[in-house]
Amino acid sequence: MFKAHSSHKPGLGARRWFLQQAGAVLAVSWGGGRSAQATPCAPGWIDAHVHVWTPDVRRYRLAPGWTEDQMNPPSFTPWQLLAHARPCGVRRVVLIQMSFYGYDNSYMLDVIRRFPGVFSGVAVINEHQQPEQKMKQLLAQGVRGFRIHPGRQDLQRWIHSPGMQTMWRTAAETGQAICALINPDALPLIDRMCQRWSQTPVVVDHFGRIGLDGQIRSSDLRNLCRLARHKNVYVKVSAYYALGKKRPPYTDLLPMFRQVYEAFGPQRLMWASDCPFQVQGGHTYRDSIDLVLQRADFLSDQDRLWILRKTAQKVYFW
Ligand SMILES: [Zn+2]
Repeated sequence: MFKAHSSHKPGLGARRWFLQQAGAVLAVSWGGGRSAQATPCAPGWIDAHVHVWTPDVRRYRLAPGWTEDQMNPPSFTPWQLLAHARPCGVRRVVLIQMSFYGYDNSYMLDVIRRFPGVFSGVAVINEHQQPEQKMKQLLAQGVRGFRIHPGRQDLQRWIHSPGMQTMWRTAAETGQAICALINPDALPLIDRMCQRWSQTPVVVDHFGRIGLDGQIRSSDLRNLCRLARHKNVYVKVSAYYALGKKRPPYTDLLPMFRQVYEAFGPQRLMWASDCPFQVQGGHTYRDSIDLVLQRADFLSDQDRLWILRKTAQKVYFW
């Protein structure tokens, strides 16, 4: 059950009921140690962005250029994740392909298969190698989105490549989301792509990483909020450990959160922890979800239902 949190304010009867609804028991049986069935009861919250990996690097090999000592923590399996997420009422999770594995999505796909109904997936593919075919193959394996990230490439070359156009066009057809891990300087490019591919579902990660360097610039925030005029654009309000002052309870992020909320509305925002990074360096899982549940007082309980469950359900669980 959801444990009442000590910071609950008195006189919030409706809030308490709401939290109890979200936190109904998740029954999980670890059949044979390799699989798990979630019992479908009340739907609980959805964490829209988590990475998992295994120390078993013989079975799941790291991509060229990656070494085991870059895996920090050395292990973050779905079991480790759920130990953080379940006590906070989180029942389902969107897995984001981890960089160590490059274009080999097999660990994530195996986790999706072993926990039916619990995980959805965002894969990484090489946009220059038959992207349309790969996107459609992965659709059948539970992949509902694709991470795009420029890395060190020139931004213009990256976003305007033929492979990238194919990905956006195919996503409009399949309904999979293009999930952009970008810095604020790429927001205008995403805007142009949204004009061109208006039917493509697009999710911008972590507020467009505004505040990553500690500075929340109003010009960046304007560029992010301008994307709201494209009806298929969503924003992850996530990764609080990495933005602004980077200290719980993260209330310095609330003005940005509110502005994004006013631009997009709750039906196009989704909360995510970005574990395991959210549960390191003195940050906790509870610290993250509590910004939405306890601190963002401009949200109604209906808004919270969207941000903590329904938006991610619509985009990733179908
Ligand atoms: Zn992440």
